[in-house]
Amino acid sequence: MEILEITKRIQELKKQKNAIILAHYYQNPEVQAVADYIGDSYQLSKIAKANTASVIIFCGVHFMAETAKILSPHKKVILPVKNAGCSMADSISYENLLKFKHENPNYIIIGYVNTSAIVKTLCDVCVTSSNAIKIINHYKKMGKKIMYVPDQNLAKYVNYLNQNNPTIDFWDGECYIHHNLTVDELARQKTFHPNAKVILHPEARLDLLQKADFIGSTKEMLDYVKKSDATEFIVGTEEGIRYCLEKDNPTKKFYMLSPKLVCGTMKMTKLIDVENALLEQGNRYEEIKLDQETIELAGKALNKMLELSE
Ligand code: SF4
Repeated sequence: MEILEITKRIQELKKQKNAIILAHYYQNPEVQAVADYIGDSYQLSKIAKANTASVIIFCGVHFMAETAKILSPHKKVILPVKNAGCSMADSISYENLLKFKHENPNYIIIGYVNTSAIVKTLCDVCVTSSNAIKIINHYKKMGKKIMYVPDQNLAKYVNYLNQNNPTIDFWDGECYIHHNLTVDELARQKTFHPNAKVILHPEARLDLLQKADFIGSTKEMLDYVKKSDATEFIVGTEEGIRYCLEKDNPTKKFYMLSPKLVCGTMKMTKLIDVENALLEQGNRYEEIKLDQETIELAGKALNKMLELSE
């Protein structure tokens, strides 16, 4: 009952404020249910840029709301829970990347979108899990030396796909949610569900990825499941994806690869936080504010990504 009442108030507030709610696939189901758009980082950054709403309530983690602000600097972007961070984004600092750039001026810096706005200012181009392989290979074909930051697992996967010819260099960051998945956990799930297709996110380790039937971003996983004739799937990404998987495929069955697939910061946002963000009340929300130089430099890297991934 309470959920229905808050949902109703949120719908009213959205109209009054000319606001839209964007929610990442890893958000709590009730938050995804009130969103105007649900997506992965890449989809949501494109929607944030194209939409005409004057306020964006970004239900996700900090770097995602910053990305929306960079691409839509004239809109008000609000993150409902200011402490919702990302361990992967935290694994690289501006100072360390700046030092690398000074010592290695001939490198192209390719930055995963899971980085802070200030780190993006040092990147030549950004990528997401949907377009990383395409964009990295674009620069490889140009014969550029590449430093990919900060996800070591996606970089190792790209090197594997390219048969290490030549390899790209990479930072040693990772997403703990995907990095901690193991081959043993998968083997255990396979004994219970031997016919299930295994779908994995490229932020998982390479030894696990080598056992997948499909590897892709959250959006690509959803597309794969929709098109697949299979009826059972072992899912190797954050459990919030179940909301869309089950909604889109009511006759198919989904088993999480591990009970650890819950991102604590993604789950911080509750429905009441969305309402408070729209009202701009309380002390949990944050309106994202970035200086002009950060918006311009980080925007250059993000817009290059949008251009190269078309
Ligand atoms: S799932 Fe991983 S990459 Fe995504 S927000 Fe959580 S820690 Fe960051």
